[in-house]
Amino acid sequence: MDFSRVELSDEDAEFQTRLAEFLASVVTDEVIERDRRTGENFDEAVHLALGEQRYLERDYRDATDGGFSRVQRRIWELEIGRAHTPWFHWGTTAMVAKSVERFGSDELVDEVLDGVLAGRLRLCLGYTEPDGGSDVATCKTKAVRDGDHWIVNGSKMFTSNAHNAQYVFLITNTNPDAPRHHDLTMFLVPLDTPGVEIQGIRTVDGDRTNITYYTDVRIPDRYRIGEVDGGWAVLRGALDAEHGTVAPVADGLQKLAVMTEHLLLLAEGCDRVAAVAGSPDERGRRAIDDDAVAYRLGRGIARTEVAASTAGMFGRVAIAQAMREVTPDLMDVLGAAGGLTRGADGAADDGGAEYLFRLASPMGVYGGTLEVFRNMIAQHALGLGRPAYAAPSGTGRSS
Ligand SMILES: Cc1cc2nc3c(=O)[nH]c(=O)nc-3n(C[C@H](O)[C@H](O)[C@H](O)COP(=O)(O)OP(=O)(O)OC[C@H]3O[C@@H](n4cnc5c(N)ncnc54)[C@H](O)[C@@H]3O)c2cc1C
Repeated sequence: MDFSRVELSDEDAEFQTRLAEFLASVVTDEVIERDRRTGENFDEAVHLALGEQRYLERDYRDATDGGFSRVQRRIWELEIGRAHTPWFHWGTTAMVAKSVERFGSDELVDEVLDGVLAGRLRLCLGYTEPDGGSDVATCKTKAVRDGDHWIVNGSKMFTSNAHNAQYVFLITNTNPDAPRHHDLTMFLVPLDTPGVEIQGIRTVDGDRTNITYYTDVRIPDRYRIGEVDGGWAVLRGALDAEHGTVAPVADGLQKLAVMTEHLLLLAEGCDRVAAVAGSPDERGRRAIDDDAVAYRLGRGIARTEVAASTAGMFGRVAIAQAMREVTPDLMDVLGAAGGLTRGADGAADDGGAEYLFRLASPMGVYGGTLEVFRNMIAQHALGLGRPAYAAPSGTGRSS
């Protein structure tokens, strides 16, 4: 394996410098502070600025179609994370826009694509329902045809960023009597349609997300994406993109795993906590001289490095697992002051570890739980077959 640094061409080096300078100018301390306080993971001014500079468009498009080259894409993904950009929802918007381009009508593509690339329009995901999210094919939200319109009724849980978005990519059930996977139809529902209600909810870690209600929401057929009852085919591509299931490339310049931005924050957090642990306290003692502290910090840094080097679906699991395992250690090393948030009097590490600890808890849930990811790896990457959920022995049940 070759771990040498990639030599950047003059053009790529200039791209990196300009990008880093630009991000520093828009992702200000104030933006970061607000993002950590509100849990929004979105900042409209930053998003519009990225659109105006054509960064969104270049990220969206392939290299052959005016997008970033592969080296630039890697630089982009790293710099956006290093700048602490409130950013997580762009991936959702881009993923939905690609489904619209692939399966939607030309009229719908014309309605949304330019606005998406300019940053004016954001698209959110309406998959999960109050009764469960892992099994996305189980959908109770109904769409019933009414001439050249559809009437939608139901509710979706965790419709993140809906309050900053203009459309929701909605799974509906259009054929309750059909077999599983043949009953779904996808729509891009404008969120300002009468009958749509967005209610904010805050997760235990402080993230802002929403529950959305759809009551007799009447939408024209042109907002349908793909065939009637053919929603599963539309959904598959979008789910693969969300899960990071992309084919590996021969030269090793893999697409970074989903959620690498979080891991970059963790790497910085480890460095900052190591600096605190290496500094003498008022009695001249350094925490790092305690073997247990040195061991836990070393283990955390090693786990972070391993996760950073793991691509695709495997990386998605490794990153969330590293976040969950390393952040409690960082909090422990800092002691009670580690629990104070950024800006609070006496906060250790300026609240960085506290933020990481909160960020870590839902990471193994949204976009698919770690258990579901492990099943997918077992089934699709390792070829171990479908998991068998047998009842515990002795219950007398066989399935
Ligand atoms: C902060 C946040 C933001 C989110 N944003 C969005 C969003 O924008 N749009 C959206 O549609 N959804 C969103 N979600 C929902 C998320 O995708 C679901 O929470 C997730 O898919 C799990 O579904 P669930 O919470 O209903 O848990 P369930 O599916 O009810 O699972 C409960 C438990 O059972 C386990 N389990 C379930 N099925 C299996 C299986 N087959 N094998 C092994 N274990 C299993 C799970 O791992 C979990 O531990 C968000 C969630 C959070 C927390």
